[in-house]
Amino acid sequence: MRYIRPFDPWRARICSCPPKFNLNVYTGCGHGCVYCYASSFIKDFYNPRVKRNFLRVVEEDLRKIDERITIILSTSSDPYQPLERDLLYTRNFLELVVKFFYDKVNLMVVTKSSLVKRDLDILVDLPVVISLTITSKSVKRKLEPFTPSYHEMKEVAITLREHCIPLVIRIDPVIPFVNEREALDIFEELLDLADHFVVSTYKAKPDSLKRLVRTFPEYSEKLIELYYGGERIHGAYYLPKEERLRVLKPFFDIAIKRGKSLATCREALKVDYLSKSCDGTHLFCSSQVH
Ligand code: SF4
Repeated sequence: MRYIRPFDPWRARICSCPPKFNLNVYTGCGHGCVYCYASSFIKDFYNPRVKRNFLRVVEEDLRKIDERITIILSTSSDPYQPLERDLLYTRNFLELVVKFFYDKVNLMVVTKSSLVKRDLDILVDLPVVISLTITSKSVKRKLEPFTPSYHEMKEVAITLREHCIPLVIRIDPVIPFVNEREALDIFEELLDLADHFVVSTYKAKPDSLKRLVRTFPEYSEKLIELYYGGERIHGAYYLPKEERLRVLKPFFDIAIKRGKSLATCREALKVDYLSKSCDGTHLFCSSQVH
């Protein structure tokens, strides 16, 4: 398998995802998120490009699969980043799955873009869970410069709901001082729209932390102190444990009170998930299959 690969984040035991496969439709990403971790291991990350013979190779990969699998689009790129508007690689992949591999694939689409609405005509015919990452309102232009506004993304969530597509909302990363307060507001505001939430704190890599403090110089000292004084887990700088618990607790309190499905992502904490899976793959059983 060349482009569709087992999802195995740094062979991390702290990852509680069920087994699944990952497909990065593009190499790199044009959304420009300052906190992005993928720039630490993908060369020239913010200069996205296509993969050679994408559709042919992916079709070959899919033919090698002999059982139903979950494929996530994508973990180190965004399938609906700006390039997709003209190149349609993601749409072509969806068409391929609908045509030949419908019975082999559960699709989890993770995006920060409203462009996903363009492909609803195909997505409604697939076993699919869509995961929208929505992290901020007022600092969105700084944090994720080339993504649509908060209100546009909220509209996307409403549209997906209207189409009965199982929906996960990721509020990830939550960064102290930067979007912590807004993240909680967003959670409360979108609580009734999603079937499952994933909320997680920012895990720093040296290059992403550098970009973050350059973008928010007013918090630079505090952020550096917190992250370099925190824990080092699988090559990433984490907030100190008690800080992670402090940030996440209000989300859990609200989720418990409102009976919502919530999980964290690679927090290395012994907090109970309020859900059947961390990533939302449990929603496939309620996914519409036509
Ligand atoms: S959308 Fe995802 S992959 Fe793209 S820059 Fe942002 S965090 Fe990185």
